[in-house]
Amino acid sequence: MRFTDATPDEINQVMELAHRAFVEYGKKSLAERASFMKAIALALEESGDELIHTAMRETNLPEARLRGERARTIFQLNSYADACLQGNWLEVRIDTAIPDKNPPKPDIRKMLVPLGPVVVFGASNFPFAYSTAGGDTACAFAAGCPVIVKAHPAHAATSQLVADAILKAARQSNMPEGIFAHVHGFSFEVGKALVMHPLTKAVGFTGSFTGGKQLFDWASQRKEPIPVFAEMGSINPVFLLPDILKDAAGATAKMYAASITLGVGQFCTNPGLIIGLESDALQQFIHDLGKEIQQSAPAAMLHPGIIKAYKENKGMALLQEEVHLVAESEKEVRDIEALPTIATATGQAFLQNPFLHKEVFGPYSIVIRCKDKNEMMAVAAHCEGQLTCTIMATDNDIENNMDLVTAVKNICGRLIMNGVPTGVEVCLSMQHGGPFPATTDSRFTSVGADGIKRFARPLAFQNWPGQFLPLELQDENVMGIWRTVNNELTKAPVK
Ligand code: NAP
Repeated sequence: MRFTDATPDEINQVMELAHRAFVEYGKKSLAERASFMKAIALALEESGDELIHTAMRETNLPEARLRGERARTIFQLNSYADACLQGNWLEVRIDTAIPDKNPPKPDIRKMLVPLGPVVVFGASNFPFAYSTAGGDTACAFAAGCPVIVKAHPAHAATSQLVADAILKAARQSNMPEGIFAHVHGFSFEVGKALVMHPLTKAVGFTGSFTGGKQLFDWASQRKEPIPVFAEMGSINPVFLLPDILKDAAGATAKMYAASITLGVGQFCTNPGLIIGLESDALQQFIHDLGKEIQQSAPAAMLHPGIIKAYKENKGMALLQEEVHLVAESEKEVRDIEALPTIATATGQAFLQNPFLHKEVFGPYSIVIRCKDKNEMMAVAAHCEGQLTCTIMATDNDIENNMDLVTAVKNICGRLIMNGVPTGVEVCLSMQHGGPFPATTDSRFTSVGADGIKRFARPLAFQNWPGQFLPLELQDENVMGIWRTVNNELTKAPVK
């Protein structure tokens, strides 16, 4: 089915409705927000095979992966609904008055309140979990914000089915008209109009650096600049320390070949850069990784645009003078399929050629051979901000390389020990974000219920009569949420 681009009039109408819905949604309790989110989860569950088959047709992703991703999306909605109700994300702070202090200390009570209508752009590689009813949408609803989704053109029909499920849940939950809207757009003009609209108060984006940075620039150029939470690409450096390689070069190579080719390499946490110290053990690792990659099966990428970009970016990377091809999959390949590939270069080449730092989105990774520890430190210092970094090490390696560990902490949002970066657990302690250019705001996460805070801002009430305060700030604490009262974390009423 071909969907048509939203016109400027339609966009204006959608934003006016969202603006009005913001006021009405603000009157709903946390329990009503949470049950709306749970109704969306149920509607997704009831969307049955039609949704899965449509997504299979549009994305080339296998059925099991899509069923798993839908289950993850349902889990996200339910767990963020529970977090919404629990209220920890509200960060309630209460300091009661001290009238006889000189000067008198007023009564001040602070909590997070919603920003307003949020525009969400999803990525093509997660048609459910980072898309229409994905993490950004769930977080915005939990925060108290209406959502306008710009459908990803690569899975527009899938997005429409999910949007229909959200609208059904909104009707069943008695939500105001305009709480959710779904807009199609094959031209960038639609996205630009949504970001620039004066009634838009925040943007959630998951996708490429080029897309995220463009939206960020538009949002900064507005008369009223607004926050853009853009989760963008990353090459997820992996540091191989010497002792672990001596012990386990083969096993590490096997584990990394599986991570590099997982989901045809189409994950923002794909390990695109592996760094080791020049040695026999590193040569063995490169050899074993190459063998694994030669034997790996090519698979179809998400859409023709992604395979085209993979071929072009990989081709450009391999054309760099200092880059050598280690291995490519030797299996037969169709036009839409990506050949898994491993390349290598020296630490000096990495330091001198910024092209080697670029994400090649797909099953491609480059192994950087450093001449010594100082060069490895320099490589870490030259890496841009990342979603993840991984250190493969024995305890002895860690003790001998604490300066490297410190340097690596400064460039990433999640630091993994002896594992692979692919696989992002949905839980409160997860950090899925990182210093620019991995995201446009390293203080926040897009996975886990802390992501709700992206779409809220603090508001303090000074000397307000109790009965006019939001319930969350009133003395009685009828909702039983955790609050910091006079510097003490408690669920007790204010005495
Ligand atoms: P994408 O091409 O950037 O698309 C994402 C969305 O942004 C689409 O709706 C797209 O619309 C829109 N967009 C892109 N460029 C734009 C521009 N210049 N102006 C206005 N809108 C624009 O990303 P993708 O190819 O779907 O996904 C792959 C990328 O996402 C990879 O780089 C991957 O690392 C990253 N990713 C990051 C995360 C994370 O959590 N950090 C998760 C998943 C994926 P059009 O389709 O109309 O262009």
